[in-house]
Amino acid sequence: MTTSPTNLLDLDQAALKAWCEGVGEKPFRATQLFRWIHQRGVGDFEAMSDLAKSLRAKLAGAAEVRPLTAIADKASADGTRKWLFDVGAGNAVETVFIPEDDRATLCISSQAGCAVGCRFCSTGHQGFSRNLTTGEIIAQLWHAEHRMRAELGLGPGERAISNVVMMGMGEPLQNYAQLVPALRMMLDDHGYGLSRRRVTVSTSGVVPMIDRLREDCPVALAVSLHAPDDALRDVLVPINKKYPIDELLSACERYLDAAPRDFITFEYCMLDGVNDSPAQARALVSLVKDRLPVKFNLIPFNPFPESGLKRSPRERVLAFGEVLIDAGIVTTIRKTRGDDIDAACGQLAGEVQDRTDAQRRMAARAIPIVPAAPSARAPTSPLPPKQ
Ligand code: SAH
Ligand code: SF4
Repeated sequence: MTTSPTNLLDLDQAALKAWCEGVGEKPFRATQLFRWIHQRGVGDFEAMSDLAKSLRAKLAGAAEVRPLTAIADKASADGTRKWLFDVGAGNAVETVFIPEDDRATLCISSQAGCAVGCRFCSTGHQGFSRNLTTGEIIAQLWHAEHRMRAELGLGPGERAISNVVMMGMGEPLQNYAQLVPALRMMLDDHGYGLSRRRVTVSTSGVVPMIDRLREDCPVALAVSLHAPDDALRDVLVPINKKYPIDELLSACERYLDAAPRDFITFEYCMLDGVNDSPAQARALVSLVKDRLPVKFNLIPFNPFPESGLKRSPRERVLAFGEVLIDAGIVTTIRKTRGDDIDAACGQLAGEVQDRTDAQRRMAARAIPIVPAAPSARAPTSPLPPKQ
């Protein structure tokens, strides 16, 4: 029986040391190898010039550095870059590079599709295909870091990516076993050397796994809240039925003991007439005030036709934010980036999957997706029917 070569991108440094020991090599060889792969972006063992010939011989055939294949690579006028990677069986995941003045953030996917099924999320509408492996998660960073380094003409020791957010496709805490080694590689000084504050896991609220992350690898945490009460959150973020808001907030309180920052970020996607009223903002204030330090990040909804939902008008988002700010809560409104290349959660992959379904897509395109007039719907109005 022939076994397929071990993908070294699946192994954090500890696992790579164990692998090297298994083939009779000293642990320091693993560190050398790890640096070649992650710091220098080299995947060809023959090019690792200072690696002992004996080790190179053992690696040949037994191991490989398996990159992802990019099936689309789009650059936005604002510098945002988006790759769509083939992960087999008709599945694709996306990775987005977002340069800003003082940082450059890579948004990474953790699953092909997602089982949580949030109403406003294009990935959620696609359903769940499979978990990504550790190697597939880290290959997104490996590809982006070394590609951007070359394109930007950065010298040795200079990094293209300063921050990572697990905010692409998928629920990272539902792929925990594969996620944690990938996070360790991001933090590893011989790998990408990112500080815990600059690596963020975003979750819809998988409470037991928030507790495990606190024990195993406490990086910055972002929680996708999206509603001030259980009745609405049950509809928007269905995992809320299993782990309701009060339990979620308690998990956040526990997480703060180990968190690299002294607050939790709460993401709140602004949906016209659904969760964007001043009364709902006040309800949010009473939910978190005197309970835990949070920072709100208000996200303008990226509309897609199947959702039947609309983006809150700008003035409504501002009014909502003002209520939070007046209550002393740090609040930011996320800038929309890469609009011209659909650089939003799940959108490009959604287009690819729809390729065979031209008729429905054409019909969907005919629906106006951004409200032309300020919101007329009452804040309490029910959600439009799911299409
Ligand atoms: N599954 C994780 C991480 C991926 S989603 C989570 O839910 O947190 C990353 C962020 O994008 C989440 O806050 C999510 O709510 C938000 N998001 C999803 N679909 C969106 C859309 N259509 N418009 C704006 N934000 C969206
Ligand atoms: Fe999954 Fe996050 Fe999308 Fe919800 S918002 S469906 S948890 S990817």
